[in-house]
Amino acid sequence: MSADHYRAAGWWRPERVDDLVLRHADALAGRCAVVCEERRLTYRGLTAAVDSAAARLRGLGLRAPEPVLVQLPNTIELLVLSLALMRAGCPPVLAMPTLREHELRPVIATLRPAALAVPRRSRAFDHPEMARRLIKEHDCLRTLLEGDDLRALCVPADGDPARVHTAQPQDIALHLLSSGTTGPPKGIPRTHEAFTSVIRAASEVSGLDRDSVYLAAIPVTHSFAFGHPGVLGTLAHGGRVVLARAADAAHCLDLVARERVTHCALVPGLAAQWLTEQREHPRDVTSLRVLQIGGAQLDPATARRLATELDCAVQQVYGMSEGLLCFTRLDDPDDIVATTQGRPAAPGDELRVVDEAGRTVPPGAVGELWTRGPSTITAYASDARPPGAFGPGGFYRTGDLVRLDDEGNVIVVDRVKDVINRSGEKIPAGDLERLLRGHPRVGAAAVVAMPHPLHGEAVCAVVVPSGDDAPNLRELRDFLRAQGAAPFKLPDRLEVVEALPTTGVGKVDKARLRRTIAALVAAERRNAPGATAEDQESRPSS
Ligand code: AMP
Repeated sequence: MSADHYRAAGWWRPERVDDLVLRHADALAGRCAVVCEERRLTYRGLTAAVDSAAARLRGLGLRAPEPVLVQLPNTIELLVLSLALMRAGCPPVLAMPTLREHELRPVIATLRPAALAVPRRSRAFDHPEMARRLIKEHDCLRTLLEGDDLRALCVPADGDPARVHTAQPQDIALHLLSSGTTGPPKGIPRTHEAFTSVIRAASEVSGLDRDSVYLAAIPVTHSFAFGHPGVLGTLAHGGRVVLARAADAAHCLDLVARERVTHCALVPGLAAQWLTEQREHPRDVTSLRVLQIGGAQLDPATARRLATELDCAVQQVYGMSEGLLCFTRLDDPDDIVATTQGRPAAPGDELRVVDEAGRTVPPGAVGELWTRGPSTITAYASDARPPGAFGPGGFYRTGDLVRLDDEGNVIVVDRVKDVINRSGEKIPAGDLERLLRGHPRVGAAAVVAMPHPLHGEAVCAVVVPSGDDAPNLRELRDFLRAQGAAPFKLPDRLEVVEALPTTGVGKVDKARLRRTIAALVAAERRNAPGATAEDQESRPSS
């Protein structure tokens, strides 16, 4: 299977992402394309803003194929700038606003972006200050796009700006960032022809059309809300995109009611918050048609409650920024929707479930999922194929343990990669452990997932102090913050131990640590003053 095969099969077409996304712009010129707080842009306005911004980017000296790091929250500027960069042949590198220097430095060193777009300074964090530090450290970075200058860049010019087009369908349209399994995030290059095929396939199974109103509740810099099918799929079908200022359930449900939202993508933790918020403060959510849930494990009971209490179709989504995207289908029986993560959206995507030696397991057995096909990359940026990332035959090794049901639906069971999945945000354990070991009072450290009622998993640091004076949780969090680690990586709990348990071969016994911490957390929940009957029932019957 090769690029030529994908083209011959019609899976990859000779098209560009910006053209696909704005293909209805003339026909729908006066219709609203994007809403962000009180601002609204029509399709005509959006296209003019994109063309104007693409021309101004050239005026700033940016030249194809120089990438530009885009670390913006859900704003009109994020959308306009990303499309304008693709139009100008300067691939946007989409970075979540929560990433910090520890994660961004290696990305900048590898991709060598020429500019950086960041949000205004907020009470929570000073992005422009971080950007200035990064610019000082990296000679590739020439331009900072922020504040009023960024806003002005994305305003439609008077008259018809000339259309800048430099990219070819085979060129890189954008870089997504991997969530990183062993170290910092890696650039995931997506060509125009491959990414448009993903947008088309994902849109089709999501039932997007001109009447769709898509609420971007999670960060649009993540592929799930960007192009899987997200805001790009919605625009490509002539729908309307509503950008949420924050992910909190009250704000998002207000937007559902105000804008008559039909589609939204959430991680399981947020979906659970929607249920609570809607029960306590009911809104009119009768417009909701499809609620997509992905990024982390959704339990079947919550899936069923979402469908009943929000009276909409639930669609489980399992996939990864590297490409593969599985969806339950809108006409699947309720049981399939509640208990599986669906099957590939794109024709041509192959799944293999393998044992530790890379041999295909018997049907229905659990193994690691390997995938290849038109949706999935065959290398990271700069043609990097880190050890363990790809298997023979060009298969991408997902690091997820799954089994397939009789219809080919994926059921995610666990994972082999040493990553903590905190509400869909992935924390590579090894990377955090390396940072922790840098603390002067830490001798050895391991981080493992612990159960969390809201996030599904949270971060527990298990530390062996180097002397008598062990650091406390606050000190460790402050230390990691000072190292430039993203806030979602900071441990939620600390356990100080004399020695880390090891396996027979001398490796840290993470499975045992996870079991011990889970038992501790469960015991604390049972004994907490507000423990529910459910908590009491989970008491062991010894
Ligand atoms: P990302 O590249 O950030 O999208 O993360 C991809 C990873 O998220 C996958 O390899 C899985 O480990 C996890 N993931 C995504 N969707 C699901 C899901 N529906 N259920 C369980 N894990 C998921």
